[in-house]
Amino acid sequence: MRQRQAGTHASAPARRRAPRVGFVSLGCPKALVDSERIITQLRAEGYEVAPTYQAADLVVVNTCGFIEAAIDESLDAIGEALEHNGRVIVTGCLGANPQRIRARHPRVLEVTGPAAYAAVVGAVHAHLPPRHDPFTELLPPQGVRLTPRHYAYLKIAEGCNNRCSFCIIPTLRGALASRRIDEVLGEAERLVAAGVKELLVISQDTSAYGSDLRYAGATWRGAHYQTRFIDLARALGSLGVWVRLHYVYPYPHVDQVLPLMAERRVLPYLDVPFQHGSPTVLRRMRRPARAEDTLARIRAWRSVCPELTLRSTFIVGFPGETEAEFTELLEWLDAAQLDRVGCFRYSPVEGAAANALADPVPAELQNERYERFMERAAAISARRLAARVGRRLRVLVDAVEGTSALARSEADAPQIDGVVRIDSARLCPGDWADVEIVAADAYDLTGRLIDG
Ligand code: SF4
Repeated sequence: MRQRQAGTHASAPARRRAPRVGFVSLGCPKALVDSERIITQLRAEGYEVAPTYQAADLVVVNTCGFIEAAIDESLDAIGEALEHNGRVIVTGCLGANPQRIRARHPRVLEVTGPAAYAAVVGAVHAHLPPRHDPFTELLPPQGVRLTPRHYAYLKIAEGCNNRCSFCIIPTLRGALASRRIDEVLGEAERLVAAGVKELLVISQDTSAYGSDLRYAGATWRGAHYQTRFIDLARALGSLGVWVRLHYVYPYPHVDQVLPLMAERRVLPYLDVPFQHGSPTVLRRMRRPARAEDTLARIRAWRSVCPELTLRSTFIVGFPGETEAEFTELLEWLDAAQLDRVGCFRYSPVEGAAANALADPVPAELQNERYERFMERAAAISARRLAARVGRRLRVLVDAVEGTSALARSEADAPQIDGVVRIDSARLCPGDWADVEIVAADAYDLTGRLIDG
């Protein structure tokens, strides 16, 4: 990254491509881990890491302020990034002394201090907003908040080999490109060593992991693994942290992971984007695994792991969706009894094949179906959460507001699912706690700390 480039300032990012951030990391291994954490967060949000100043829309310089020589090197690196890119955010140890940086480099966009993940990610958002499209992004809009120190997204692949008619990810990001399993596991190990207690596995199609690499073999911690979904789940399950699987399609081979969930090697939680319950709509959507009997698969999963939490997202008002097809969706939802459900009204994405489909559903009807769908989903959620009252759960604390801690059980992914509220002044973010559930509403639980 620090090599000199011909040409100087980067142009404004084109609207259609992912925003690109350059990274210059200086200092000790701790700073390197900080950089990785920032990059992990940004990549999970759809940013790309640019290999040169020229290719970057802005550059983050993670500085060192340990000794004068390191300060000089950091100030030089900031100057180089300004010269060759022009849009620079400074973070890291030297960021604790912003006056010194601004005295030499008044043009820097922002200065944030050491381990200030929220601030540096927030600064990137402010100067280079992430693209948020519910049909193309892995994380929800509220996911732009900082990933706290105790959990991290683990992106195992880029791109996608499916061709869903409403989606342009394969055009934007290309075909599935999995990371080799030893590389992913190495990153997971580093995250755990840095204090991460929960790994959230993400990609566009986690169940397809490794198929592009023909399931390449690799050695990790003296054992042989293939680059494939089940091996990844097994290996991550040996790290002693919560492992949560997102974006899994209901293919037969996914059944293999359920015993690992029953043994709590990985969390009994699956995020499966079903998108609809009507076979004819799914065909028009060209969804992966649309030929599978998803209700039978869900029943089989729950028979192996009764504690399984299922989350999913749906699209209502897809072109041509008839009242009968929408009713099929509601009936499917009643039968599936999913724990966590998100819903989008269909909206066309420029370049998507679905734009050519006949009979768009008017906005008013989309809204009406959305309301009916969410009402049904909320009632299911409320019933399932009410069944947890009186139970004892282990939770992970995400945030503390006054004397109220917001935590999550194994059934709750951060940002997208519910929370467990605990009235306690002695908990801190990242703490484990054991609680008894004393109340539930449609989406959240209230817990009472169990002493001991
Ligand atoms: S699975 Fe479908 S919706 Fe998801 S990224 Fe691939 S093409 Fe898009």
